[in-house]
Amino acid sequence: MKITEHIKSANKTLFSFEILPPLKGVEIDELWFGIDPLIEFKPSFIDVTYHREDFVLKKRPDGSYDKVSTRKRPGTVAICAALQHKYKIDAVPHLICGGFDKEDTENALIDLHFLGIDNVLALRGDARKADAGFIPEPNGNKNALDLIHQIKNMNAGIYLDEELTNAHITKFCAGAACYPEKHADAPNLESDLKFLKRKVEAGAEFLITQMFFDNQMYFDFVKKCREIGINVPIIPGIKPMTTAKQVYTLPKIFNIQIPVALTNELEKCKNDNEVKQVGTEWAIEQCKELMKNGAPVLHFYTMGKSAQTKAICEKIF
Ligand code: FAD
Repeated sequence: MKITEHIKSANKTLFSFEILPPLKGVEIDELWFGIDPLIEFKPSFIDVTYHREDFVLKKRPDGSYDKVSTRKRPGTVAICAALQHKYKIDAVPHLICGGFDKEDTENALIDLHFLGIDNVLALRGDARKADAGFIPEPNGNKNALDLIHQIKNMNAGIYLDEELTNAHITKFCAGAACYPEKHADAPNLESDLKFLKRKVEAGAEFLITQMFFDNQMYFDFVKKCREIGINVPIIPGIKPMTTAKQVYTLPKIFNIQIPVALTNELEKCKNDNEVKQVGTEWAIEQCKELMKNGAPVLHFYTMGKSAQTKAICEKIF
């Protein structure tokens, strides 16, 4: 079922979870172990992130280094298929531009279609750590907008091979990412919103926000989107604070701010257990306010830590 249909047929705020594929070499049971405790909250969908290859340095016996390309968390498509089979819940694979040329993307979409996966989250993907900025593949999509165009073309039966006639019409519901505090590469929020509108005009049917800790950022963002004619559901992304060092790392990695009231509370914590407690309580209050204000779905970035997500959901479900 399409995410938009889940939202349309609901009369209350829905729940969804984002999970990461396990590290290479780890069994899939580890993943189920994290998802099982969350099933009681009847998630409408579960997203699975996509992790492209990156370079690591491997030391040779002579002390010099080899630059080796590796993917630490493969398996997104297979996990989505297994997840739908096991839990009968819609899985939403993240599909990125980085590392894919358009032929790879088309083939990945065909795989997803054959597996009965109706939804995808279309993303540009981050730059590899070794690169100064995002570099598209030769003949690859250079941003999420391009990727959405390709998905929508397949939904219209237009494949890359122009000679392919009567090609099967796929029925993907494509979502996209959005950033209440603007994307790191964007010069300002207005510029980011202009490109966001183009993603929606190209066919993005729902949006999932970057994590935020100040609900007012989300409310203001939704208002701005509506003012410029972005009318699709905007799903808030929730990430509870788990460790003291995240106060410094999250703003840097995700281009977000931590509200003063939260940093004040975190400063009183003596260890990460206390941080987790403060983070859980903060997220519960965030969720309650978002639900009160009609958020269509609460999307939890579980980051493999289901116990804390469960503790939050228990208070608001
Ligand atoms: P885009 O929409 O392409 O935008 C990227 C930047 O380019 C923005 O600054 C935008 O304003 C600008 N821009 C857009 N179009 C144009 C244009 N035509 N001309 C000039 N500038 C333009 N990353 C992963 O690698 N794997 C994941 O699984 C993953 N999941 C995510 C899930 C969510 C909900 C979110 C919010 C992010 C996720 N990311 C993931 C991170 C994401 O890939 C990065 O934030 C990436 O840098 C941008 O992706 P995007 O799809 O938002 O890019």
